[in-house]
Amino acid sequence: MELIDGKAISQAIKDELKDKVETLRKEGKTGSLAVIQVGNDPASSVYVRNKKKACEYIGIGSVSYELPEETTEAELLSIIDDLNHKSDIIGILVQLPLPASINEERVLNAIDPLKDVDCFHPVNVGKLLIGQESFLPCTPAGVIELLKRSGVEIKGKHAVIVGRSNIVGKPMSLLMLKENATVTICHSKTRDLEAVTREADILIVAMGKPKFIKASFVKEGAVVIDVGIHRQEDGKLCGDVDFDEVSPKASLITPVPGGVGPMTIAMLMANCVKAISR
Ligand code: NDP
Repeated sequence: MELIDGKAISQAIKDELKDKVETLRKEGKTGSLAVIQVGNDPASSVYVRNKKKACEYIGIGSVSYELPEETTEAELLSIIDDLNHKSDIIGILVQLPLPASINEERVLNAIDPLKDVDCFHPVNVGKLLIGQESFLPCTPAGVIELLKRSGVEIKGKHAVIVGRSNIVGKPMSLLMLKENATVTICHSKTRDLEAVTREADILIVAMGKPKFIKASFVKEGAVVIDVGIHRQEDGKLCGDVDFDEVSPKASLITPVPGGVGPMTIAMLMANCVKAISR
C-alpha cells in the first residue's frame, strides 16, 4: 500500500500557480477574489481564513466581506451585484452554509458565471455536463489531480463513486467520465453496496458516514480515495473509509487528514488563476 500525499501534491499545485500568477502579472493581468461570509460559524471562519491565506501565497488579492448573521438576502444580493460589475474582482465566493433566512440557491445563481470560482452556478455545471470549457468543481477536480499526479491511469478503469451530492458525487462522476473511466454511481438506495464497490478499480467515497467503508467493500489492489471528513470524539479526524482496515488491501489510498482535504483549496486557486487569465 502506498499513501497518496495530498499535502505535497496541493503544495506543488500552489507553487505552479504562483509562477503562473507572476507571468500573468507581467502581462498586466491581475485581480482579486471576493470572499463573503455571513455570520460567524467557526468552521466557516477557518475555511475563509485558509482561502485568503492561499490567495496570498499564490500572489493574488482577496477582499473579505464579513457580514452579520442578520444580513438579509436582498442585502447580500446587492453586494453580489456590485461585485459582478467590478472589473478588479475576478472571482466571488460565498462561504456555505448561509443562515436559514437566506435562500442559498438564489444567492449562488446571482453570481456572474464568469466569476463563479466554486463552479456551483447552473451555467457552469451545465457546461461541465456537455463538455464545454468552464471552471472545474474544486473537490472533484482535486481528486482527478491526486490520481493523475500519483500515476494512476484512469482511462478504461471501473470507477465506483459512493455519493451523488451536487458538490462532490455528481460532478465527480462527470470528471471521471471525461477521463474515460467506466463510471458507477452509488447512493443510499443502492442495493448491496458492498458487492458494487468491490468491483471498483478506483473507489471514490463521498458519503458523509465515518469509517463506513470496511475491507470487505474493497477489491485487492484497488485505488481508494476518501473524500469524507469527520471530527471524532477524541478530536482526531477520520474519513468515510476505515483506513486501518482498508489500507492493507489498497494499492494506493488517501489518508484523512492530508488527502483530498488540501486539494479543494488548491483547485479553487486554479479556478481563480483561470479567471485572471481570461
Ligand atoms: P452529502 O450528505 O450531500 O451526500 C452524501 C451522499 O452519500 C448522498 O448522495 C447519499 O445518498 C450517499 N449515502 C449516504 N449514506 C449512504 C449509504 N449508507 N450507502 C450509500 N450511499 C450513501 O455529502 P457531501 O457529498 O457534501 O460530502 C460527503 C463527505 O465529503 C462529507 O463527509 C463531507 O464532509 C466531505 N467533504 C469533503 C470535502 C473536502 O474538501 N475534502 C469537500 C466536500 C465534502 P442519497 O443521495 O441517496 O441520500
